[in-house]
Amino acid sequence: MTSTPESNPRQDQNERSEEPARSLNFIEQIIEDDAKSGRFGNRVHTRFPPEPNGYLHVGHAKAIILSYGIAKQYGGLFNLRFDDTNPSKEDVEYVESIKEDVKWLGADWQDRLFFASDYFEQMYEYAVQLIKKGKAYVCDLTAEQIRETRGTATVPGTPSPYRDRSVEENLDLFKRMRDGEFPDGSKTLRAKIDMASPNFNLRDPVMYRILHTPHHRQGTKWSIYPMYDWAHGLEDSIEGITHSICTLEFEHHRPLYDWFLNELGVYHPQQIEFARLNLTYTVMSKRKLLELVKNNYVDGWDDPRMPTICGLRRRGFTPESLRIFCKTIGVAKFNSTIEATVLENAVREDLNKKALRRMAVLDPIKLVIDNYPEGQTEKLVAVNNPENEADGVREVSFSKTLYIEREDFMEDAPKKYYRLSPGREVRLRYAYYVTCKSCVKDADGNVVEVHCEYDPETRGGQSADGRRVQGTIHWVDTQTAIDAEVRLYDRLFNVPNPDDPDNLGDYKDYLNPESLKVVKGAKLEAALADASLDDRFQFERIGYFTLDKTATKDAPVFNRTVSLRDSWSKVAKK
Ligand code: ATP
Ligand code: MG
Repeated sequence: MTSTPESNPRQDQNERSEEPARSLNFIEQIIEDDAKSGRFGNRVHTRFPPEPNGYLHVGHAKAIILSYGIAKQYGGLFNLRFDDTNPSKEDVEYVESIKEDVKWLGADWQDRLFFASDYFEQMYEYAVQLIKKGKAYVCDLTAEQIRETRGTATVPGTPSPYRDRSVEENLDLFKRMRDGEFPDGSKTLRAKIDMASPNFNLRDPVMYRILHTPHHRQGTKWSIYPMYDWAHGLEDSIEGITHSICTLEFEHHRPLYDWFLNELGVYHPQQIEFARLNLTYTVMSKRKLLELVKNNYVDGWDDPRMPTICGLRRRGFTPESLRIFCKTIGVAKFNSTIEATVLENAVREDLNKKALRRMAVLDPIKLVIDNYPEGQTEKLVAVNNPENEADGVREVSFSKTLYIEREDFMEDAPKKYYRLSPGREVRLRYAYYVTCKSCVKDADGNVVEVHCEYDPETRGGQSADGRRVQGTIHWVDTQTAIDAEVRLYDRLFNVPNPDDPDNLGDYKDYLNPESLKVVKGAKLEAALADASLDDRFQFERIGYFTLDKTATKDAPVFNRTVSLRDSWSKVAKK
């Protein structure tokens, strides 16, 4: 916290100028080209296809905002589809959390919530079609053997000894695979493509594997489960998706996506790849996030330090702030890592417009106004949000004894210290000018009370004689203050790339021990007693805060979303 020279203190000022017309990004370009050629009859239909095996993170938010945004922009439709083709790691808990997160982000799937597992029967029929065409076969090689016979970049793969099974035999074996006759891993159904293809994905990829594992929606109905590459294009095709937007690692899978759909001769969406989001000072792999939760490095999936959507929500991020973030970073065809500050600035930009200003003292000491009448209290008018007049004003109570921040007083202060120090005058925000007279110390020499005198002619923080003060500080009336716990969150890791393989240690070695600082006994202005979970606040001079889900009326808890970028002084000097 720094000093606050006189002038209208407006924090985090960030006026967005009217944006110039922007050129199309590569995805919009494809869509507009398709519209011109009439390829999809002018339809735009996108989807978000999460696997219900974890909580969504900010990378998924980017994918959701992108796919939903494209649909909306072109008057199209958007589906939410659970890609629940792998029964072993999936869970209904994840399904529910994902729905909540997608809804919160504002991506509206209307009545189009789908589960890939509902298409298992149809996928099976499609597989039978490929077998009949001589384009798929049952292979008895183990997963290990399949890997060993795949070849290398320079050496073609070796054809499976089962590659030339007759159609009849394949149909029979495939049916018996489905009927559960064979143990896990003993057979697969493979596409018969090209063992010498330069693209490994086309070297007879596995379409089905045997897995005697119950499915969270299908129960024990299936003993075979489709592989991602086989299933995904079919799901898109069945749903009539036009543009299937996915991350870059699927680029080399697109020829397979296209091959399956072409061989089946079914409706054929366009897969488009974009670069996944990477962010500094965090990790985004589901495995690592799960490890952080399971081993209690954090306090659950929605720990406000997590990059999960529920974590960001609990921390006070808004859906709009994530949209601003996505707009800022755009979409690209090459992978890069975005600075954490870009995300932090996005939430500041949004909260600056929305957050109600309140006063809160995190490290309180008492300020006694010696010449203020004992027992008197008064109500002063405070602006709720200088960025939005419609938010109006509120009354804050004022009396002889206030709380101020410990660091807003210094006994022997340097010249440029524009806060309280004996002989110096400051403005108490929305209240009066006060001049510091003295302080009281305890036996150990710690300041426990600051004494001052106020100028009754400066009510509202304006002096009648045009006298100026250098600093403005915030305060809370001891008569009406509420006690609260305040949680100051910081970045979860203390290096920009915690999972960089070149790091010496494990990513967990880089956890930031200072990522959470709990402040007990903060003093808040009375209006904050009415806070609800959806409210966003700016504690003046401190940062943006929101009520935590664990808060009760008697024991309020506030989370810091993000600190303020600028102190008042910096803004005021512009
Ligand atoms: P995994 O497949 O390893 O379980 P995943 O993060 O890819 O993990 P999915 O549920 O498959 O999880 O993701 C759903 C969609 O979100 C996919 O289309 C994927 O491309 C997209 N996605 C995942 N991570 C990111 C990211 N970091 N940035 C942008 N999009 C992402
Ligand atoms: Mg995935």
